[in-house]
Amino acid sequence: MEPGKVKIYTCGPTVYDFPHIGNLRAYIFSDTLRRMFEFNSYQVSHVINITDVGHLTSNADSGEDKMELASRKQHQSAWDIARFYTEIFKNNLIEMNIASPTVWSPATDHIQDQIDLIKKIEAAGCAYTTSDGVYFDTSKFDSYGYLARLDIDGMEPGSRVEFNGEKRNPTDFALWKFSIKQGDRQMEWQSPWGLGFPGWHIECSAMAMKYLGKTIDVHTGGIDHIPVHHTNEIAQSESVTGQKFVNYWLHVAFLTVESQKMSKSAGTFITLKEVIDRHYDPLAFRYMALTSHYRTGLNFTWEGLRGAQKALVSLREKVAQYQYEEVAPDGESLSEFRGRINNDLNTPQALAFLFEVVRSTLPDTVKRATMLEFDKVLGLKLDKIPAESEAPQDVVDLLVQRQQFRREKNWQESDRIRREIVAKGYDVEDTPEGSRVIKKGL
Ligand code: AMP
Ligand code: ZN
Repeated sequence: MEPGKVKIYTCGPTVYDFPHIGNLRAYIFSDTLRRMFEFNSYQVSHVINITDVGHLTSNADSGEDKMELASRKQHQSAWDIARFYTEIFKNNLIEMNIASPTVWSPATDHIQDQIDLIKKIEAAGCAYTTSDGVYFDTSKFDSYGYLARLDIDGMEPGSRVEFNGEKRNPTDFALWKFSIKQGDRQMEWQSPWGLGFPGWHIECSAMAMKYLGKTIDVHTGGIDHIPVHHTNEIAQSESVTGQKFVNYWLHVAFLTVESQKMSKSAGTFITLKEVIDRHYDPLAFRYMALTSHYRTGLNFTWEGLRGAQKALVSLREKVAQYQYEEVAPDGESLSEFRGRINNDLNTPQALAFLFEVVRSTLPDTVKRATMLEFDKVLGLKLDKIPAESEAPQDVVDLLVQRQQFRREKNWQESDRIRREIVAKGYDVEDTPEGSRVIKKGL
């Protein structure tokens, strides 16, 4: 909207568990988007929220708050759970070379902003109160569902979201939920409607508008947010302001494993810690993410990650070999790269072009400068010198094989592989978190 400036809001994590690498794909995407704008000399204001209250297990308006449930399961207070996983998430972003946003906004620090927005929604005639909370009346918002192209008229009650008898329309959603009785929850606040907590969607409308204004340039999230979360953010915001909430919605497709969405609630997920424990560079995963377009699903395999790591290391080796000299990057290559990255963030083509530069006849010093200029968008730390202490790929492969035998309790094979690793000059250390190799004498 404003020349030279761009405002981006990114839906953040729900901090009740470790992020999985599917979640990280979403933030690698928003980071690459931000870097692309900066590469084009935009000044970026970027907000990421932290969902530390109100996200229920059903994704709609029933079930338990994920934070309170995690608190019971993990025997920690909901507040400690939120603090712990927020820290883990931020550390994961550092490992992935993802820049901190201009503003981090935890939902629990913005309860008053959310209450104020609900009051405005009520004043606009779009809210009603039931025995368990305050709801948004989606029939009062004419364009409800346009983002997801929802067929509201053809929707049977309960067909998309479970239908609570007091809701006026199946698509209505909670703005504020009541505590069943005082002390029943750890996270609860007084409000004009009664003691309780905010619904999941209201935090994003309230915080996006607080920090970025009534209309924002770009809003990102995963494709799972289109039919409910983002559809509801639009209704909440536009019913109050009467103006467009978001100019461009960008949604990232899923990371899958064996064609199933990687998800926290299913409990089948791979964390960054596992990637690191298996001796992969976290940025090998970033590389892997960049090999697919953000709107295309990406299927994760360890084999694929191995290929990504190899490619990344080979690029770093090139940069390390090329002589450093203070020279300008190649102008023609830069404009080719810019064209690819500016074309709806076509990272697979941008990466392919990086290899074209390596193979080109440009002087090595210019290749180096050009590659590092591209790296401002790719974020792969191409100038990192491949560490000598890192175990070579054949040792890592042996370790992975051995871990599989250990899982199968095949001690004979696991011992045989240990001897092979030792013969290659490495010691194996088994810890409760997994096994690692250490170069002998280090
Ligand atoms: P959550 O912590 O579940 O609220 O999710 C944080 C972000 O990760 C959201 O933008 C989700 O859309 C996104 N996300 C969740 N699962 C995946 C996945 N398997 N692949 C890509 N993005 C995902
Ligand atoms: Zn959101």
